[in-house]
Amino acid sequence: MTTSPPSPVAPWRATVLTLFPEMFPGPLGVSLAGRALASGIWSLEARDIRASATDKHRSVDDTPAGGGPGMVLRADVLAAAIDAAAIDPERPKLLMSPRGRPLTQAFVRELAAGPGPLIVCGRFEGVDQRVIDARSLTEVSIGDYVLSGGEIAALVLIDACVRLLPGVMGKLESGTDESFSDGLLEYPQYTRPQLFEGWTIPDVLTSGDHAKVAAWRRAQAEALTEARRPDLWAEWQGRDGREQRGTGQKEPKSTTDG
Ligand code: SAH
Repeated sequence: MTTSPPSPVAPWRATVLTLFPEMFPGPLGVSLAGRALASGIWSLEARDIRASATDKHRSVDDTPAGGGPGMVLRADVLAAAIDAAAIDPERPKLLMSPRGRPLTQAFVRELAAGPGPLIVCGRFEGVDQRVIDARSLTEVSIGDYVLSGGEIAALVLIDACVRLLPGVMGKLESGTDESFSDGLLEYPQYTRPQLFEGWTIPDVLTSGDHAKVAAWRRAQAEALTEARRPDLWAEWQGRDGREQRGTGQKEPKSTTDG
């Protein structure tokens, strides 16, 4: 199922292997990602793993060797599905998995800069280890919790990548000046009305003094990061000391995102 028209320049593409292709593009069919999909900035192919089943029951899973609850996706069926996708060898081959490499903004930027991944969505108790090894799948986790399947995780990964593709966001800088992009959480945002239930917008933001606005935002971003994410704060302080000494403030952010 290809859900976008062909584009003259090779677009970023995602090839998803799933037992539930009807879950795609799902939420990626609307707003920024949906418009970019319709205009051919990226393309999406959701392929049904079950199409590679060979027995008369079209079975894709079986009980775990060694016993235990649940079912495991079969190595032979999944390998056949990966091979049938016939992707370019330079494209990353990912498996959504809670024990994988954490999906960070840096990892997202790396994936967005490439040709776009093949993404295998697990189900049940997971997939047979031999297909992970035999097809050199890179396991990727979206966080320390367990989902019922890899599809929502794949949607998260694709969404995070697509918004960074050239031409997807209104202003180029809106992809670089936000939470995580320089190691800090984002400063608070405000928009009209000026007065909301007795709450005003901080004066500095309406002062028209760009240097003061930038300094305020930086201070807010630092305070938030220190209070909420000691892990990011420690990392940023280390990096700030080594690499960022003497560099300027964050640029004002576009408010046109979305
Ligand atoms: N028994 C496995 C969990 C299986 S959950 C374990 O304990 O590791 C079923 C599928 O959901 C997984 O194969 C994976 O594709 C997906 N999944 C679940 N949690 C995920 C997460 N945090 N990140 C990415 N994928 C996840």
